[in-house]
Amino acid sequence: MPRLLPENTWHGDPTLPALLGSWLRPDTIAWAEPTLSEMGRAAVEELRAWGDGCERQPAVLRPFDGWGNRVDEVVYTDAWRQLAAVAARTGLVALPYEEEALGRLGAEARLVQAALGYLFAPSTATYLCPVAMTDGAARVLTDAGAGGQLQQVLGHLTSRDPGRAWTSGQWMTERQGGSDVGQNAVVARRDGDRWRLFGQKFFCSNIGCEVALTLARPEGAPPGTRGLTLFLVPRDVPDGVRNRYRIERLKDKLGTRAMATGEVTLDGAQVELVGGEDRGFAQMTAMLNITRLHNAITAAATMRRALMLATAYAGERVAFGRRLEQHPLHAQMLREIAAEADGALYLTMRMAQLLGRIETGTADAGEAALFRVGIALAKLYTAKQAVAVASEALECFGGQGYMEDTGLPRLLRDAQVLPIWEGTTSVLALDALRVLRKTDVLDAVAAELERLDAPEGECALDMARTARAQEGEAAERGARRLAFSLAQSWMGGLLGQAGIEVTPRGIGLPPR
Ligand SMILES: Cc1cc2nc3c(=O)[nH]c(=O)nc-3n(C[C@H](O)[C@H](O)[C@H](O)COP(=O)(O)OP(=O)(O)OC[C@H]3O[C@@H](n4cnc5c(N)ncnc54)[C@H](O)[C@@H]3O)c2cc1C
Repeated sequence: MPRLLPENTWHGDPTLPALLGSWLRPDTIAWAEPTLSEMGRAAVEELRAWGDGCERQPAVLRPFDGWGNRVDEVVYTDAWRQLAAVAARTGLVALPYEEEALGRLGAEARLVQAALGYLFAPSTATYLCPVAMTDGAARVLTDAGAGGQLQQVLGHLTSRDPGRAWTSGQWMTERQGGSDVGQNAVVARRDGDRWRLFGQKFFCSNIGCEVALTLARPEGAPPGTRGLTLFLVPRDVPDGVRNRYRIERLKDKLGTRAMATGEVTLDGAQVELVGGEDRGFAQMTAMLNITRLHNAITAAATMRRALMLATAYAGERVAFGRRLEQHPLHAQMLREIAAEADGALYLTMRMAQLLGRIETGTADAGEAALFRVGIALAKLYTAKQAVAVASEALECFGGQGYMEDTGLPRLLRDAQVLPIWEGTTSVLALDALRVLRKTDVLDAVAAELERLDAPEGECALDMARTARAQEGEAAERGARRLAFSLAQSWMGGLLGQAGIEVTPRGIGLPPR
């Protein structure tokens, strides 16, 4: 049976090493290379075996102990704990928070972290989701300048010691609204000098987490997003006692099966306020910037893995007397997939680069404005394409692609969540439209597309200018089209700058 994956996905990646080689300082690449190489090796060996193991044997909920006491324990397999240990040891969360790494790498720490996540993600049964939420929580706690208990929590979230490392959840969505978070109804009540939460959260991924960040409305706070406050919910309160929330059930999902997602009832859970009472929505946005970046990393990585599999198969499988790769139409299909995979990687890495600069205070105002719209575009476009590419790569195997042995069905199942969580395609397209109404943001995009000599950049910018001039519904109706056009043009520019002469057109998207 021929190998479908290279022996090492870092050395075997046709794009990532060249990208990092030209974007990172030589010192940084020399420092990161051994870890990237080790991650690329592990991705086709033990990480893949553990990921497959988790998929076959997902976590289960143990609501009661043998005495009938409520324990709400999420029981994971050893394979899941192994993935957690690798994530911690490699610093998948820690890297951009460590003084030593930051001193050495500066803003480039985010690029190295993104590259490691990209190599880790496609083998590891969506473990990058807990990584993403933990990174988001670490960012918020760092920005809040949290002391006391919150400082200790931050230490656990950014620890490289698997015995000490914690992960975080991100409990935003309630039954009545995920996109429309302003409808949130969970109530925060003061109890002496502490706060307690009451109500239900409907989607809580990585539900075995040691802590979660959640939005709640203090009694008497105004309706809508203005009245939302961010709290930290510890799983255990002092003396090792379980906090007062119940995991009602684990969700039965299409994909992300290895990663337990629960429904939670908060029944007076003891929580810590994070930052000011009126800052909840702004803090959530900062957290989402991080989780959206990880979403794009996962999407780009999914496309690369799907392409690697489909390319290798096309080099072996014979139909009508020729290998699939020798059929012009099949070869064209693979080129189109490659354009999407490369474009996704470049746009995602550009966001990691911008984020690193913003976090280290080295970004100028234009870069900060660019990131505001870019992170929405990168998340929405790469997520949508990850599903299309995974589906197309599966079809490239014919009937065999439908079989679990190839790993393609899992890629497709897991890709399908990428356009939904962290903001759906439409919600993010509207977000991009809203941000583009700010002149500094549009100017920053125009400067970027011009700098890159982006293909059809003027056309995409004209669409943006028209949308800005439009009132209400007409602009909203065209928001997805605008977002896809800007993303494609931007990716084409980044690829052109790297000497890759293609413009992604979108698998399965209507022509512009
Ligand atoms: C596997 C999984 C795990 C998840 N884990 C978490 C988690 O850990 N924490 C968490 O907080 N959430 C989590 N979610 C929830 C997820 O973030 C939400 O499902 C998502 O944000 C969408 O919200 P909703 O389900 O309420 O859909 P809705 O907001 O009801 O959206 C339904 C549809 O309406 C569209 N829509 C909504 N508003 C508009 C508009 N203004 N204009 C045009 N179209 C619109 C949307 O694009 C979508 O197509 C998870 C979801 C899944 C599937």
